[in-house]
Amino acid sequence: MRATIIPVTPFQQNCSLVWCPRTLSAAVIDPGGDLEQILAAAQEEKLRIEKILLTHAHIDHAGGTAALATQLQVPVEGPHVGDKFWIDQMPEQGRTFGFPRCESFTPDRWLEDGDVVQFGDVRFDVKHCPGHTPGHVVFVSPPQKVAFVGDVLFAGSIGRTDFPGGDYDTLIHSIRDKLFPLGDDVRFVPGHGPMSTFGDERRSNPFVGDAVAGGSRRGAS
Ligand SMILES: [Zn+2]
Ligand SMILES: [Zn+2]
Repeated sequence: MRATIIPVTPFQQNCSLVWCPRTLSAAVIDPGGDLEQILAAAQEEKLRIEKILLTHAHIDHAGGTAALATQLQVPVEGPHVGDKFWIDQMPEQGRTFGFPRCESFTPDRWLEDGDVVQFGDVRFDVKHCPGHTPGHVVFVSPPQKVAFVGDVLFAGSIGRTDFPGGDYDTLIHSIRDKLFPLGDDVRFVPGHGPMSTFGDERRSNPFVGDAVAGGSRRGAS
């Protein structure tokens, strides 16, 4: 598996282009916008984008989904159905943040905890990690020891929980009970900012690290 991170939208959201080096089949995780940059990166590596994967339906992650799916005629997988209300509000999210061309859409496949998504030889396990949004999912490759976690966890921080459907305790549970058990050596691509490992966050994250019992009550992004 190979991957490149393309920061998109004014929120500098980490859109990931992930591909199978044998077949050159690719998936785009969280095409929030700036589709021409994503397509140029795919073209440069001569990739065939086969599907769009969504961690959650906030506009900086999902705003370009309808346009990209229509243009490429590819299926959308994810997020969990708990984020349907965010997808239904995509045009309003677009107007609020001044994003062009933000249409709502219906995923071809809603994802559940324990599902598997595949393209080429790449296989991701799906973890349902609510808290930032109710339908947030995370994509994990155990053999590659890498996870794409959207806005659940960041290097040194956690996702905001003050949006509709957000819940702080639920988010802490998702991180501690679903992500950290995957292993200290698993690297993760967050929705914003630099990569880190679950081990580093378990040791030093001020919200979910081993040193905090309850954690403090603020998050970012
Ligand atoms: Zn978000
Ligand atoms: Zn975000």
